[in-house]
Amino acid sequence: MATTDRQATTLALAHALSAAERGLAVIPLSRTKLPALRSPHRDAPVPAPCHGECGRLGHGVHDASSDPARIRELFAAAPWATGYGIACGLPPHHLIGLDLDVKTGTDSSAALRELALRHLFTIPPTVVIVTPSGGRHLWLSGPSEVVVPNSAGRLAPGIDIRGAGGYLVGPGSRTGQGVYAAAPGTAHLAPAPCPRSLLRLL
Ligand SMILES: [Zn+2]
Repeated sequence: MATTDRQATTLALAHALSAAERGLAVIPLSRTKLPALRSPHRDAPVPAPCHGECGRLGHGVHDASSDPARIRELFAAAPWATGYGIACGLPPHHLIGLDLDVKTGTDSSAALRELALRHLFTIPPTVVIVTPSGGRHLWLSGPSEVVVPNSAGRLAPGIDIRGAGGYLVGPGSRTGQGVYAAAPGTAHLAPAPCPRSLLRLL
């Protein structure tokens, strides 16, 4: 078991470094998909407004980096990590994640198609990550001047948006539910620009 976990951590680090090579900033995640490093301020009587200014690790998505040395440092501090998160909203891609859920009773793919018809946009070929539950994450890039907020179910039932301050579980991550993987034929793509009429809805 311990060996398996160590392998999972090594694998997660390798995938995280590969994402960083594409300009994506990453943090280690635990099996629960939460940031693997706990806040150094967790025992503070009032929540600290610190985003890493204290110089320690453990500030969630604010730790995210695309610098290989920094990523190795993050993973060395979190040897229980089995996955990694990709920070949204940061240059150069200003990543936006469309999280299409497959909870019973919602057909989020159909909801997205309906939105596309109504607002006259098409989703361009882009990176698609398949989640262990069969959901999909569509990666899009945003313009630098627009801050896309995170939202859950606001666009349509079953569609969550990961924007500034949010993160996406990266492909190759192992969680308690299983492994996240790029959909066939999409791993080599760059995040496609978010259609303007979709951007206005976010
Ligand atoms: Zn701090």
